[in-house]
Amino acid sequence: MEYQNTIEFAKQLDSQDELREYRNKFHIPLDKNGEETIYFTGNSLGLQPKQTKDYINQELEDWAKYGVEGHFHAKNPWMPYHEIVTKKLANVVGALPNEVVAMNSLTVNLHLLMVSFFQPKGKKCKIMIANNEFPSDIYAVKSQLKYHNLNIEDNLIIAKAKDGSDVISTEEVLELINSNADELALVMFAGVNYYTGQYFDMKRITEECHKHGIVAGFDLAHAAGNIDLQLHDWNVDFAVWCSYKYLNSGPGGIAGAFVHEKHKNHSGPRFEGWWGTKKETRFLMKPDFEAIEGVEAWQLSNPPIFQLAALNSSLDVFEEVGMKKLRDKSEKLTEYILYLLGTLDKSNINTITPNNFEERGCQISIKVKKGKEIFNTLMENGVIADWREPDVIRIAPVPLYNSFLDVYKFYNIIKNII
Ligand SMILES: *Cc1c(COP(=O)(O)O)cnc(C)c1O
Repeated sequence: MEYQNTIEFAKQLDSQDELREYRNKFHIPLDKNGEETIYFTGNSLGLQPKQTKDYINQELEDWAKYGVEGHFHAKNPWMPYHEIVTKKLANVVGALPNEVVAMNSLTVNLHLLMVSFFQPKGKKCKIMIANNEFPSDIYAVKSQLKYHNLNIEDNLIIAKAKDGSDVISTEEVLELINSNADELALVMFAGVNYYTGQYFDMKRITEECHKHGIVAGFDLAHAAGNIDLQLHDWNVDFAVWCSYKYLNSGPGGIAGAFVHEKHKNHSGPRFEGWWGTKKETRFLMKPDFEAIEGVEAWQLSNPPIFQLAALNSSLDVFEEVGMKKLRDKSEKLTEYILYLLGTLDKSNINTITPNNFEERGCQISIKVKKGKEIFNTLMENGVIADWREPDVIRIAPVPLYNSFLDVYKFYNIIKNII
């Protein structure tokens, strides 16, 4: 498309956007003048759907009305409550219903699944992660190595681009897997890197791993609700994600986990709790654990209903729109932003996110000279963005509630600062 850097053109794009009405379904935070902010941090904390209050109120009312009997008599009985979200969650990540579950929080789920799927044997005992990985993931894999009495220097491989650039090509990742194949037990990548916004080719990475008997696990914190994922078809072994970023379930919201159907009768190690045991016999309170078939076996505790209600509210919006349309709009929003930034002086500003849409989601990471100053001025002008030391501003125009006008206004502010 031929883009133009005018406000009229941005408004025209909005008028042609079939998802434009969805913005009205969200609370947009206001700035100090009472104007709507340009909210570009849906990659950090997604906005609140207006209907979420009703979903949570329903459970508050049923708790007031029924007390413990709400487990059976609430409008949505709490006993099987997590099952309400299963199918919708499966649709968001491209999975079968018995491959996904909402439970715990992200890093907890990462540990639970690594306990089961990181099984070092003989020479095959290394883990590979990407460069610039989110610290919690680094701590998690390092502590898993320590848990198996493996030293970190020898057993953690960090996949870095040879030329020192921030992003690493899929070819290079595949080559690294191949050249370390005899010693790798697990490759654990983020689907979308939180820092660069790079989206990895999860299908090819998984294929390469499986050629060499390596487990492929993914952290989808920045991918769930952002990328049109097909976890089942790609044959991914396991995946985990949080739901407070693109999935708009609220601060600290309940996380998700995926275990491929082929592992549904997993008999290896697992940390177990009563919510993972068969539903028919759970309340016989027997001392022996009988695993539910599929990913639900990894559940430990009865789940937080208010958090599930908030997730359910948000997933109803996703169910209505579908990931395809979101991904299409995401392409247009990011193409527009890259076009606009491209008209600015390149000695001041550079994007490190891949230009190719197949290799990014809706986040654009911008390296800037005097970055912190620019960032502060953006914030003063009603742009809510995110700052990463030493010099990166991350912005995420989210297709559900951001507009082309948001993108244009952002560009106009940054142009004036530079
Ligand atoms: C946001 C994020 C986390 C946060 O972990 P929590 O357990 O939800 O606090 C971890 N890893 C990645 C890659 C993230 O983007």
